[in-house]
Amino acid sequence: MSPAPTTPDALESHRLDFLKDEIQRLKDENLYQALQPFEGMQGAEIQMEGRAILNFSSNNYLGLTNHPKLMAAAKQAIDDYGVGAGAVRTIIGTMRIHNELEEKLARFKHCEATLVLQSGFTANMAAIPPIMGENDVIISDALNHASIIDAVRLSRGASKDIYAHSDMAALESVLKKHKSARRKLIVTDGVFSMDGDIAKLPEIVALAEKHNAIVMVDDAHGSGVLGSHGRGTVDHFGLHGRVDIVVGTMSKALGAMGGYVASTQAMREIMINKARPLLFSTPHPPSVVASCIAAIDLLESDDSLMQKLWYNTRYFKAGMKSIGLPIESETPLCPVIVGTSEKAQRLSQRLFEEGIFGRAIVYPTVAADRARVRIIINAGHTQPQLDRCIETFEKLGKELDLLR
Ligand SMILES: *Cc1c(COP(=O)(O)O)cnc(C)c1O
Repeated sequence: MSPAPTTPDALESHRLDFLKDEIQRLKDENLYQALQPFEGMQGAEIQMEGRAILNFSSNNYLGLTNHPKLMAAAKQAIDDYGVGAGAVRTIIGTMRIHNELEEKLARFKHCEATLVLQSGFTANMAAIPPIMGENDVIISDALNHASIIDAVRLSRGASKDIYAHSDMAALESVLKKHKSARRKLIVTDGVFSMDGDIAKLPEIVALAEKHNAIVMVDDAHGSGVLGSHGRGTVDHFGLHGRVDIVVGTMSKALGAMGGYVASTQAMREIMINKARPLLFSTPHPPSVVASCIAAIDLLESDDSLMQKLWYNTRYFKAGMKSIGLPIESETPLCPVIVGTSEKAQRLSQRLFEEGIFGRAIVYPTVAADRARVRIIINAGHTQPQLDRCIETFEKLGKELDLLR
């Protein structure tokens, strides 16, 4: 007699049981992450688990995620163009509005041409593999974002070399070592996404010019945050025309979703022909594109939100310094580095109990002994909210022995 048939569900869970051991390991090492949904809109105050929580973890730097102009633009675009692009761009998925956004972005970023991708993540996938191959070398900062690391991995045939974080002597020695490479690409975050420090772009550009290397900056946390009207890190340093490729995101300060590559017309054309996220994945629906256009219009016309963001940042950092928890960063991205993953998780948990959302960032996102709670200041935070955050850190700093 044959055994009773196993249901497909039971069979599947049995085959995937090995994952449970991995989950237990993550939990044992304080590295396990769970999703924590909130109700309503993304903002300075959110509703979570039935209570009001102050949100100090979002990348919504300018509070644009629910700005009336961005929302109205999306609604109008749905009425005008529907909800989907219908195909990849190279087939029949390029709507007039996609090109309009790219032309606007090129003017905004003071470059020849841009190409918009679904996200900052896919923008890196679109930018690097098409231009780097056999006999080329990609030279990458040790703390670059995961999407750069993955894009480098996908650049078949190219070799890679990592230099110590923002160490210009190390960068130069790597450049010298690869003197005979066909092409060299230096790639760096503009604002480092876990520490909030700014790349030493003037030095990087000078070294690139001396050693004939291409320079690429991933400015996800600089877009809408640094430079005149949020034009980014390149503008912040006055380096227009000297950085070859800039990747930016519209998913953070710009409040919507999307990534872009800002460079030359030739770079745009090569990506249209070779970038796999463009060739094999459908672009944004028109509503998202319209929100992005509205966001750039807003940045261009008014920098009061940026002023507020930086005012809040200075206020918060001064407060944290005064309680003995100085923040070592140059931007609104404020890491509170505590050491072990366990300590970071504990701090995050206690903050939450006190009504403050500050996400713990642990290995492998950061080094195992540099776990932290990453606080991100937004233009939408009010002074009483900033005060409450600082006061809570003071209380927990004593409780968890963090104060210096
Ligand atoms: C967030 C981030 C990205 C990814 O951007 P998305 O638009 O969220 O995909 C890429 N690079 C860096 C440096 C980032 O911080």
